[in-house]
Amino acid sequence: MLSTMQDGHLSIGTLLRHGSTVHAESEIVTWTGSGSRRETFADLGKHAAKLANALRGLGITGDQRVGTFMWNNAEHMAAYAAIPAMGAVLHTLNIRLFPEQLVFVANHAEDQVILVDGTLVPLLAKQLPEMKTVRHVIVANGDPATLQAPDGVEVHSYDELLSRQADTFDWPDVDERSAAAMCYTSGTTGDPKGVAYSHRSIWLHSMQVCMTDSMRLAESDKALAIVPMFHAMSWGLPYAALMIGASLVMPDRFLQPEPIAQVLATEKPTFAAAVPTIWQGLLQYLDANPQDISHLREVVVGGSAAPPSLMHAFEERYGVPILHAWGMTETSPLGSVARPPKAATGEEAWRYRYTQGRFPANVSARLIGDSGEEMPWDNEAVGELEVQGPWIAASYYGGSQVDPEKFHDGWLRTGDVGKISPDGFLTLTDRSKDVIKSGGEWISSVDLENAVMGHPAVAEAAVIGVPDEKWDERPLVAVVVREGQQVTAVELREFLADKVAKWQLPEHWTFIEEVPKTSVGKFDKKRLRAMNSDGSLD
Ligand code: ADP
Repeated sequence: MLSTMQDGHLSIGTLLRHGSTVHAESEIVTWTGSGSRRETFADLGKHAAKLANALRGLGITGDQRVGTFMWNNAEHMAAYAAIPAMGAVLHTLNIRLFPEQLVFVANHAEDQVILVDGTLVPLLAKQLPEMKTVRHVIVANGDPATLQAPDGVEVHSYDELLSRQADTFDWPDVDERSAAAMCYTSGTTGDPKGVAYSHRSIWLHSMQVCMTDSMRLAESDKALAIVPMFHAMSWGLPYAALMIGASLVMPDRFLQPEPIAQVLATEKPTFAAAVPTIWQGLLQYLDANPQDISHLREVVVGGSAAPPSLMHAFEERYGVPILHAWGMTETSPLGSVARPPKAATGEEAWRYRYTQGRFPANVSARLIGDSGEEMPWDNEAVGELEVQGPWIAASYYGGSQVDPEKFHDGWLRTGDVGKISPDGFLTLTDRSKDVIKSGGEWISSVDLENAVMGHPAVAEAAVIGVPDEKWDERPLVAVVVREGQQVTAVELREFLADKVAKWQLPEHWTFIEEVPKTSVGKFDKKRLRAMNSDGSLD
């Protein structure tokens, strides 16, 4: 029997209509370096309509792709709203991709128009001649005259173009299963791969972001979205904010610890989200320049493992709880969130919080062992994590659902290795390619990194496997010492002695200025391995 219920429209257009009317007074605050500029959600509705009219005027129809090459700011938010709501597809270009990858993704997605921030024009200009499908570039927050466009590409001023447009748009009804936005994974191997989110998947994911046991985003929040809008959709914050009327604080290009501290002091957000390296940097800055940040009810840390030392530092020194979460571009990205069960208190609660978190109802998970068998959820058996659900990718754009490297009988292979407790908490021990195989046993690079980063003189530590005649591989620890501090390899080994098994104790140590980072701010182990091979770590 069919139900008697309506389907409703799980579309970005519905979210935009809702946010700009019901939450008309909520704000998008964009940091300018010395202060802020503000736009209400009501204004966002008009701003998005103008942008949609402008894009139609430039010939954007159907599901054509519009690229953004932008920081987190009000203009990027208008693009997030307008492009999918008009039925086109938003393609967030990662400004930190290698040039050849940037060209690849723009050509692969067949971007017709690119919105670029004025400060990023020089970066785009170099690659633009190779972007075969781009017909128009719109320069926001900058001078279009700075862009020498190749033949066949017209350059426009964002402000000038929008000033000529009506501030209403007849938003179409869009099929909720059609693509709304796309994001390419940074592709640590091979070409980047495109994930095309649907209106429906974004809608359902937004609801998850707001759920009490998830990120708990609410109307009363003012959320500082540090995680870039070109990195896994800023972890869903922009659309979730529209859904429930949370105000957004956008740091624009000011992502160093000092300006972030300034944004915190001025705007007093209640919530923030960023990868661990951002929080490590901020912690060092705050320790040297103390300031009250207790207005933050909670901050979300994900993208790579949140070191327990970082979680304790923020909670104990600044009164700000860190909520650890796991996800990936392919999972929209929210996969699991580490809120301890209500019965857990004290040390036990902390142990839950160190994990990558608990799966929500909409993310099914399983662990697959070395010989393809499903492993039990006993918090001991280790396997590769596979996930399924309505906001999990089933294939890549232009790819096939049967790509055995990434998909397995309708499940997404995450490439992450870990264990799951009977109550559904995931603990990742590594990415499958980062696991160190020593004498037939596995050493978790993440566990070692967390243990080393627990030393007060250590700012950052990254661990890779290096070839070893006897053991196959052994861990090499690359350490960044905190400013003004000193520590030796012998001292660090002693420090680890009661924290990791004896056979895991690393004998290879190197001290470096900075851990190389990927385009989204994670430890770049591929580069570390290359540096080790070419002798630059010696
Ligand atoms: P990339 O492959 O470019 O890093 P993503 O940003 O999609 O792309 O990264 C997803 C990966 O990041 C996950 O598969 C996992 O390895 C890692 N990751 C994300 N969150 C966490 C976390 N909380 N702890 C450990 N690893 C994490």
